[in-house]
Amino acid sequence: MIISFKEALQDAYRNKYAVGAFNCLSLENVMGAIQAAEELRSPIILQLAEVQFPYSPIALMAPIFIESAKKATVPVAVHLDHGQSFETCAKAIRLGFNSVMIDGSGLPLEENIRVSSAVVRMAKAFDVDVEAELGKVGDTGSGEGEGTGNASTADVFTDVEESARFIRQTGIDALAIAIGNLHGKYIATPRLNIQRLIEIKDRNNIPLVLHGGSGTSEEDFKACIHNGISKINVATAIQLGIAEEMQAYLGTISKPSYIEMKYKMVEATKQVVMKHILLFESNNRV
Ligand SMILES: [Zn+2]
Repeated sequence: MIISFKEALQDAYRNKYAVGAFNCLSLENVMGAIQAAEELRSPIILQLAEVQFPYSPIALMAPIFIESAKKATVPVAVHLDHGQSFETCAKAIRLGFNSVMIDGSGLPLEENIRVSSAVVRMAKAFDVDVEAELGKVGDTGSGEGEGTGNASTADVFTDVEESARFIRQTGIDALAIAIGNLHGKYIATPRLNIQRLIEIKDRNNIPLVLHGGSGTSEEDFKACIHNGISKINVATAIQLGIAEEMQAYLGTISKPSYIEMKYKMVEATKQVVMKHILLFESNNRV
């Protein structure tokens, strides 16, 4: 069944777990993710980022997301990840996404507030929820390609006072923060600034979002979900899981079957998603 983004995150916020938001680039990803959520009785978010549109067009993915969400026996939200403009957010809403992220984190603060507020006003007219980002989530340079910035320096972390002003002035439903997290495949496991997370949580009262969930240590994940992170994005881990599965399969067989490969892609997605659902403690919540 379809659930609103806000409702899913608020339950997670109250009960100190995180809903996994999985970037799905194909039918196989969607099928595997839904199967994982159903098997573990977990809410889930299916999402697609604007940088992924060239190979997974949003107009084609939207009906797959929405029909799969409706048919699922667990609550599913359908979310635009890293919308880069007001127009992209409007397009996702027209296609039936029930939440959108506007990423103005690369803009000066005032411009980020302006574009995020404009998206909130438009989205609320359609009963759609909004995530925005403050601070710079870095990029490992391994391919997700949506961040810039260097997450190891403190001045890119989300500022506590700015976060309070940003949330108040924009009216967003969830805030993505930068606490040393990176997009893409980590070369070394990053250390997250949990102290900063706690300060942001204590200063505000809305669900927080962690981007760059592929490769964070189990200890940091636990510290995050117990301190206000209610949504964690996972993209790269799924891609790596499928690539490894394909490599293993193609290495053992002389006449590969495409149908067999499709089944293996679904299964590899399911395994990665199940692992993260258990880590995020969102299992047995529905
Ligand atoms: Zn992200």
